[in-house]
Amino acid sequence: MAYVIAEPCIGTKDTACVDACPVDCIHPKKNEGDFVAQPQLYIDPVACIDCGACVPVCPVSAIFALDDLPGKWKQYAEINAKEALIAVVLRAEQS
Ligand code: SF4
Repeated sequence: MAYVIAEPCIGTKDTACVDACPVDCIHPKKNEGDFVAQPQLYIDPVACIDCGACVPVCPVSAIFALDDLPGKWKQYAEINAKEALIAVVLRAEQS
């Protein structure tokens, strides 16, 4: 399944979810090069273990289980997956 970060994160990027995630699958972090340029944070659906720890810490309620993602934000599942994959490639190239 995986969790998804939707529109309320845009312009917020609080990052409390980053600290709450036990498997480090939410990016970019504040210290990563693309943090300023990205409009929101993304969850890597391959690495996410569906624990739900990120949901209650989000101050704008932007994170949903895939099955609970509101219809108006369904496209964010694909956006998270695509941007997370790009971020994985970028970080591999930089390391
Ligand atoms: Fe990380 Fe758990 Fe949230 Fe998935 S559900 S992004 S593993 S905190």
